[in-house]
Amino acid sequence: MTTQKGIAILGSTGSIGTQSLEVIAAYPEFFDLRVLTAHSNADLLIEQAKKYKPQAVVIVDESKYEYVKKALWDDDIVVYAGENSLSEVVTFNEVDTVLTALVGYAGLKPTLAAIAAKKTIALANKETLVVAGELVTREAKANGVNIYPVDSEHSAIFQCLVGEFHNNIEKIYLTASGGPFRGWSKERLSAVTKAQALKHPNWEMGAKITIDSASLMNKGLEVIEAKWLFNLRPEQIDIIVHPQSIVHSLVQFEDGSMKAQMGLPDMKLPIQFALTYPDRFPTDFPRFNFMDYPQLTFEQADRDTFKNLNLAYVAMSLEGTAACALNASNEVVVDAFLNDKIGFLDIAEINEFVLHESKNILKPTYEDFVEVDKLARELANLKIELL
Ligand code: NAD
Ligand code: MG
Repeated sequence: MTTQKGIAILGSTGSIGTQSLEVIAAYPEFFDLRVLTAHSNADLLIEQAKKYKPQAVVIVDESKYEYVKKALWDDDIVVYAGENSLSEVVTFNEVDTVLTALVGYAGLKPTLAAIAAKKTIALANKETLVVAGELVTREAKANGVNIYPVDSEHSAIFQCLVGEFHNNIEKIYLTASGGPFRGWSKERLSAVTKAQALKHPNWEMGAKITIDSASLMNKGLEVIEAKWLFNLRPEQIDIIVHPQSIVHSLVQFEDGSMKAQMGLPDMKLPIQFALTYPDRFPTDFPRFNFMDYPQLTFEQADRDTFKNLNLAYVAMSLEGTAACALNASNEVVVDAFLNDKIGFLDIAEINEFVLHESKNILKPTYEDFVEVDKLARELANLKIELL
């Protein structure tokens, strides 16, 4: 008999969160769902809690606490509220694996708490590694904690590395769809609307990552994520644009051999692999058909037009808190773009400004990240007001 794996999902109401619930529900004998959390979507959190019967839920938005509590009164589910509760529920004895499917910097603190409590991490929340990859991977090592990637490109690399962990990586190629504006000029991009940017050609995702995909910041964040997950130097990480999103990424070994992982774009597969590794569980997900994709194509990324990619490489090479500042700025500007306060090209302009103007603290502590994140947000907001 297999023992059940206790799962906590941070951000269960989001795109990754809801797909994770589908994956988990398909294997009730293997998974035991213990904790669900949401920022403010109380109704969906309540619906999920009634369906999946976790032991606890967290609603981060404290103004919704009474509402959630009342709704779950008869269900024997403990309701918590507030950001700090996230760091508490991940440490419960019944939790073995914490799936970090919340968005942004907010993932850092609860992920560190989960690592300190020696929980396995299934990491979708790439911002945590972008902000504080050095600290997070150091703590994971010290606590004997594995971090399994959920992000499709990093899952692809991880899948290529199974059976190869003793072999050196020469380099990796992260594939990028190129987003909805692949091939566009700066002039055309200057008039881009929110609705256009929110339409991704191949993936349905939350609003923040969809804008990041359109601005190529997502790929930049993924480069930094890869550095920390696979312990790589910046020059070992390359990007190749692959509009069909079938090859999810590639590893090149020291003998020149390359391994790629392929499949239809469906996040349920990398989510499931992060939860079942080293096993593969059977699924009825749609299968790839070569005749639907007679051509798989590859091209260079346009780093002049999509400056965010270069900014990520600069931040990664600077080390310290540089990527933390870049991430903070990006969270602020994406939010501003989604609220019609800035144009599409302002995203990278402001990110560049904040990255250059922020102080870079080498060998940062947790408190340094908190401080740099706060200052970078202030700087980005100031720049937005001055536009
Ligand atoms: P989403 O916006 O759909 O969902 C975000 C979830 O996090 C929601 O449940 C929300 O309630 C919660 N949340 C938001 N802000 C929060 C805060 N401040 N504190 C606590 N909880 C908060 O986002 P998503 O698309 O599911 O992405 C989640 C993470 O996974 C992101 O880091 C993203 O980069 C990563 N990711 C997503 C995809 C995808 O296909 N959606 C693919 C790869 C990686
Ligand atoms: Mg990805």
